Amino acid sequence: MFQEISQKQIVELTKGSVLNRHDELMISQLAIDSRQILHPSKTLFVALRGAKADGADFIPQLVKLGVQTFLVHDDFDESTALDVCFIKVADTRRALQLLAKYQRSLFTNPVVSITGSNGKTIVKEWLGEILGQKYAVAKSPKSYNSQVGVPLSIFGIESYHQVAILEAGISKAGEMAALEEMIQPNLGIFTNIGTAHQEGFESLEAKLQEKLSLFKDSNFLIYCRDHDFISEAIESVFPSDKRVGWSDRAGAEFTRSLKVKGNGSRMILMNSDLSTHTFHVPFTDVASLENITHVIVAAITLGQSVGSIQEGIAHLKSVDMRLTLKPGINDSLLIDDTYNNDLAGLKVALDFMQQQRPKRRKILILSDLLQQGSPEKIYAEVSELIKKYRFDQLYGVGKEIFFLEKEFPESFTGFNSTLELLAKLDPETFQNDLILVTGARVFGFEEVVNRLQQRIHGTTLEINLNALTHNYNFYKKLLSPKTKVMVMVKALAYGGGAVEIANQIQTMGADYLGVAFSDEGVALRKQGIKLPIMVLNAMQESFGLCSEFNLEPVVFSPEYFESLASWSIIHHTTMKIHLDMDTGMHRLGFEKKQIEVLKSLIKANPQLEVASIYTHFVGADEEIHREFSLTQMKNFIVMKEEVLSMLSYRPLIHALNSAGISTFPQFQFDMVRLGIGLYGVEVTGKFEQALRTIGTLKTTISQVKELEPGETIGYSRKGVLATGGKIATLALGYADGYDRRFSNGKGYVLIHGKQAPIIGNVCMDMCMVDVSGMDVKAGDEAIVYGEKISLKELAERIGTIPYELLTNISTRVKRVYYLD
Ligand SMILES: *Cc1c(COP(=O)(O)O)cnc(C)c1O
Repeated sequence: MFQEISQKQIVELTKGSVLNRHDELMISQLAIDSRQILHPSKTLFVALRGAKADGADFIPQLVKLGVQTFLVHDDFDESTALDVCFIKVADTRRALQLLAKYQRSLFTNPVVSITGSNGKTIVKEWLGEILGQKYAVAKSPKSYNSQVGVPLSIFGIESYHQVAILEAGISKAGEMAALEEMIQPNLGIFTNIGTAHQEGFESLEAKLQEKLSLFKDSNFLIYCRDHDFISEAIESVFPSDKRVGWSDRAGAEFTRSLKVKGNGSRMILMNSDLSTHTFHVPFTDVASLENITHVIVAAITLGQSVGSIQEGIAHLKSVDMRLTLKPGINDSLLIDDTYNNDLAGLKVALDFMQQQRPKRRKILILSDLLQQGSPEKIYAEVSELIKKYRFDQLYGVGKEIFFLEKEFPESFTGFNSTLELLAKLDPETFQNDLILVTGARVFGFEEVVNRLQQRIHGTTLEINLNALTHNYNFYKKLLSPKTKVMVMVKALAYGGGAVEIANQIQTMGADYLGVAFSDEGVALRKQGIKLPIMVLNAMQESFGLCSEFNLEPVVFSPEYFESLASWSIIHHTTMKIHLDMDTGMHRLGFEKKQIEVLKSLIKANPQLEVASIYTHFVGADEEIHREFSLTQMKNFIVMKEEVLSMLSYRPLIHALNSAGISTFPQFQFDMVRLGIGLYGVEVTGKFEQALRTIGTLKTTISQVKELEPGETIGYSRKGVLATGGKIATLALGYADGYDRRFSNGKGYVLIHGKQAPIIGNVCMDMCMVDVSGMDVKAGDEAIVYGEKISLKELAERIGTIPYELLTNISTRVKRVYYLD
């Protein structure tokens, strides 16, 4: 919170009813996450209710920590903690927004807000970078642009900031009003509008109008006039003295002309008074050019000089701003945050680090924060954070970072430059560590990351952890809040990488994990995964492992029951088991006629506790099997009742897989088993638009060749370019899991957004694509699976299903994880 505020004021602002007031207590920090408390007594903890958890559950432990002021829902039972202050409101999220609105009203410098479908984050970062040449800039960390993200961004504004840049994002109708009320932007930027997330709105028109309402009280609104749909709407609502439109056609407030020059472009902007400004920008692609034009026009509108804008642009790159988790050397885990220059961003990175599995040591490699303001104050806060997150070793690069030396004489090593750090750092000293590399872009920490990461070869599978969370929450919303979720992470979490995905699932608050074999479960336990784990097919030889690592086998036949029972008796141990009822799958499971035998086995073996009873659908994704699915459920209900009737305790009942959740939510029972949907494939086709793609399989071009008419390509001379052309060789083959059936035009990849079909046969480690007429070179990236490629469609082309494509991706393909 940037301005201290008394408890009394908080009560007034939120119109809450208060218990155990302490009116004069001053609050200067706000937390919604129990792990982020720095100064307990000065913190207001806001208990939010989300799909995954209720913040109120953490209150007892926060009271112990020393937090004294809580914002809670009306129905909160305060009897557990009597001597702290509870402010009760109907909706804590709304109360948080009211506090943010008040804090915003105290800030008298300009607030810029950005909305639109694409480019918000990049426009925010670039504008921040360019204005930061001259001014102390506050900006939303990463993409904190939602109903909760915006208030948190506002609390990050400090009184010394001279301008604030806040992103605003909405996903359904009605959300913008609250954002507008909080942000009250003086200057607006509308990037563009796409059809993404259309499902939350009546129409594209309705979505546009809702987004535009953010700017109803702004002094200026910047937009591109060449998007006719947007400009018509803006020009019918906003008076001309508010509009700052730019266009490649004449007649706008700014007319742009572009010319490609080398690796970049020359941009001339002509103002409506006919004055012109020339900029050199390091981009040639349409999207980056559009984004940078928004940024330049905004900086000019804010009164920044052309010279200083140009200086700022010279340093920009279309760099990756994402926070990424990568495999590091010697079993270390590396968090790559090499595009971070302020405290707000540092906090996000630290929080992300905290969610990772425990490792031997925690290492922080950090540059100067290029944040305007008093270094003493800034580094005092950095010190607090370092203490809180308990680092074992610190490496600092820059000048001001030496402030940390006094605080951490034992663990701090300082360097004047990144080059010096690289010269003196011996990567081999890291072993099984968790390493956070975070620094401002000018420090070029990419090189440090390169040095510390496990060699990444041509092909990588990038996993978007935010998309994973999005998909999880999507399914949670289809379910009753009480229903538990088991996430299936068999087969390396459908190819995504079992341990990191399981860790994320654990953080999201899922209840159970499911694996196929015991060794998959053992691997998760060895990496610190604590959730209960069900094993679908635990072989007899692995009973010992199940017991040692607390894995819960599925029991699927009388014979299996007997052998597990005698094993547990011989080893004097108890175990949790799950019972699979075969209602039509005919894979594993008890059949109806075996129920009596099963009941007597359960009765005779109290050392085996039935943790759950379940069945599995054979065709929940296909309408033609609807009747069959309903019959399966009817039989399941009879079978599970039979077993339940003889038990003195109540195991969990579950049946639904991803398709089942979409189609038969009435059969959710106590738990569901979520698989492919979490990984972004909605097999029923019902909610396809609602899910986000979580994985992008990428490779690089190794070589480009020009071919004469009639020359053939690859083994067996299957590929031919009849009229000649150009091919590119990719570092991807069937040994990476790229199916050989994609040969000869069945498959394609995307290069610079264009489809390049596979030509010839896919080889073991390579394949060739037709890039005739495309501007490509060695080193360019090719997208194999990802957002713009439908896995379902690709799978159909070769007669398989998305499950197979995902799980086939070989372990030699490196997995990296990021937050977007
Ligand atoms: C794999 C599996 C699931 C998950 O199925 P999806 O279709 O991927 O959601 C659920 N239950 C069982 C028993 C499974 O084997």
